[in-house]
Amino acid sequence: MENLKIEIQNKRKSFEDALAKVKDRHSLQDIRNEYLSRQRGIITGIFEQLKHVKPEERPEIGNLINDFKNHVQERVLALQEKFAAPKKVLEKVDLTLPGEKKYWGAPHPIPLFQQEIENIFLRMGFSIADGPEIETDYYNFGALNFPPHHPARDDWDTLYITDDVLLRTHTSPVQIRVMEKKKPPIRIINPGKVYRKEAPDPTHLPMFFQVEGLVVDLGITFAHLKGTLEYFLKALFHEKIKIRFRPSFFPFTEPSAEVDIECTVCGGKSEDCRVCGGGGWIEILGSGMVDPQVLKNVNIDPEKYSGFAFGLGVDRTAMFAYQIPDMRYFYENDLRFIRQFSLK
Ligand SMILES: [Zn+2]
Repeated sequence: MENLKIEIQNKRKSFEDALAKVKDRHSLQDIRNEYLSRQRGIITGIFEQLKHVKPEERPEIGNLINDFKNHVQERVLALQEKFAAPKKVLEKVDLTLPGEKKYWGAPHPIPLFQQEIENIFLRMGFSIADGPEIETDYYNFGALNFPPHHPARDDWDTLYITDDVLLRTHTSPVQIRVMEKKKPPIRIINPGKVYRKEAPDPTHLPMFFQVEGLVVDLGITFAHLKGTLEYFLKALFHEKIKIRFRPSFFPFTEPSAEVDIECTVCGGKSEDCRVCGGGGWIEILGSGMVDPQVLKNVNIDPEKYSGFAFGLGVDRTAMFAYQIPDMRYFYENDLRFIRQFSLK
């Protein structure tokens, strides 16, 4: 029995030595055959000697042999895997071919640009408010000083669902909803989708994004409006951009002003610029002091409080910021276009 024990030990050692010299699959296969072959394998040979061992000693020796056999099998298998994997890759990959690029996706340019706008206002202490895209006539028009049949309603090509329910044409209804629930001081922006009955063309879409803002507090003046919007536009475009305020009309603000920036494409230097039409200015924002009647509609005392509001089209502004000639590109899902925008 002792002899057999020593033999197992020796074979185990010579197996380890042989394995240490293995360099490829073929030499590994030779060792596997040498030890594990059913007819002439070393382990089979050792098993055969078991019959010469005394019956009471057989279990112990049997365990030793089985242990050795399992060890050989495991070691051979591990090495087989090691040799197999890289070999396969080397055989199949042509390293001269260009690599396979994986595209992980990127945010759409419009939400990305909207986020940039939001961040500027968040820095100024504004908070973000949200509201429904399907609105009643009251929130979209009535509460904002558009009486029924008022001609100003014609400027908004509205998509009606019923006589009283519609797809909001601007995000202003959110301002009414906020003022109904919250008393001043109010300082919010309300970004979101709006809808108009328009045929898509380079500068119009039936669905687009707007960001509106509202400030209501004690002693708010036009100077606050001007300072806030100037800061915003300089942060969004660049510090030196020229800005001008032009008198305008909106039913829900009085006085009202439209805000232009100098053309981001020609800088006012080209007479046949397609973006500014040669005028050198681009209209970017609508704004004004909240009409006292709108404050009354939501039970805020206009004798005590005043406020300003403003709004801009996200898609339109992104067009100027990125110098894109056609707004429809944003929604055509052409990946060559979309992939140009990603988080820096
Ligand atoms: Zn221009």
